Amino acid sequence: MAFDYSPQDLQFADDVRAFIQANLDAGVRKKILSGMLPTRSEREKWQKSLYARGWAAPSWPVEFGGTGWTVVQRHIFDEVLTEEGAPGFPVFGMSMLAPVLMRFGTERQKREILPAILTMDDFWCQGFSEPGAGSDLAGVRSTARLEDGFWIINGQKIWTTLAHEANKIFVLVRTSVAEKKQLGLSILLLAMDTPGITVRPIITIDNHHEVNEVFFDDVRVPAENIIGEEGLGWTYAKFLLGHERTSIARIGQSRRELKRLIATASTIPWRDGMVSQAPWFKRRHAQIEIRHRILEATTLRLLAMVAEGGKPGSEANLLKIHGSEVQQDLAELWMDVVGEYGFAYGQDAIADIGEMVPWEANYVAGSYFNSRKLSIYGGSNEIQRNIIAKSALGL
Ligand SMILES: Cc1cc2nc3c(=O)[nH]c(=O)nc-3n(C[C@H](O)[C@H](O)[C@H](O)COP(=O)(O)OP(=O)(O)OC[C@H]3O[C@@H](n4cnc5c(N)ncnc54)[C@H](O)[C@@H]3O)c2cc1C
Repeated sequence: MAFDYSPQDLQFADDVRAFIQANLDAGVRKKILSGMLPTRSEREKWQKSLYARGWAAPSWPVEFGGTGWTVVQRHIFDEVLTEEGAPGFPVFGMSMLAPVLMRFGTERQKREILPAILTMDDFWCQGFSEPGAGSDLAGVRSTARLEDGFWIINGQKIWTTLAHEANKIFVLVRTSVAEKKQLGLSILLLAMDTPGITVRPIITIDNHHEVNEVFFDDVRVPAENIIGEEGLGWTYAKFLLGHERTSIARIGQSRRELKRLIATASTIPWRDGMVSQAPWFKRRHAQIEIRHRILEATTLRLLAMVAEGGKPGSEANLLKIHGSEVQQDLAELWMDVVGEYGFAYGQDAIADIGEMVPWEANYVAGSYFNSRKLSIYGGSNEIQRNIIAKSALGL
């Protein structure tokens, strides 16, 4: 496919940018650019404004509320959104659960669940990982047994992102005992306020509350709250994780950070000039930018393949590895650019550093530590490399 944007594409990008600038709350924008998390109500407000404009789910088929845009338009949309500091889409519902339901769900599930994802009236979280079942996800030990028309769930999930804000969760649980551990798993759908669910926060090294432990103690869910067939959860989970990996490269965010790095580096003194003129900065910035452009071209190629009915193969694993590494390299370069000003990390520190340094210095350390997660979640990068070695290289 051609990689040059047409005049219509560029006009489309301008329209999207104008919409964001007119509708996105300035406080939310600054929060996101500072590496802080928007609240659920801030996300919901933004998602509802996209919904009102008909832009709630560009990746979905039109029949379910998608936009019908081309692959390039969707890419531009994502990119402008992240460049402008808009909240991300509610990824667990929109990019993971929804594609699985569209393919394997019942008509009733599609009718009842998908519209509430579009408006964010329902905010979903993903309960897959457990202590001892992360990379080896098939090792899931939480169970659900069928009793009088209800699944009774017992067990524990961990690292459940935004479980404290979500009102719905999809969980991978063992519903039958099989010789092969990949068999006998199922995905169940439940409300977070179901009796027997306990959410405990995990505070990460950047002092944020993003992830949680979730405990299930005789939690009862109607039998029909299962996706597809009992025991085929592994098949659905693999389908779902393929979608997770294609959306995890965050091309637009890295492009934004590449630009902002130059802007900030040109305000911080270095020897007789500014950091932006330092050979070490120019070299590292150029290296990251080259990798970023390769990533973007690969993403467009993958999206074009999917648009023509192809299935993401090891390209999705490749994107996950390179996308996360580019973001981590950027976070490291940010740390070196702000230098000792980065010590000011903390929500109140900005008042103390005042006019001395760009406000970005205030959040850089937090973003650096937070970016460690990128090569772990969505399947660690070591696991991605194992998959590529096996599936693409036949090793
Ligand atoms: C910030 C964050 C958010 C998350 N959000 C969610 C969420 O919302 N929902 C959810 O279900 N999960 C979530 N996860 C969990 C995530 O998917 C797991 O952390 C990940 O799959 C790794 O599993 P683990 O933590 O158990 O590490 P382990 O599997 O114990 O791995 C530990 C280390 O060993 C390496 N390793 C393991 N096996 C192999 C192997 N076969 N070959 C080579 N190296 C190997 C890994 O690469 C890693 O470096 C999140 C994780 C993080 C950090």
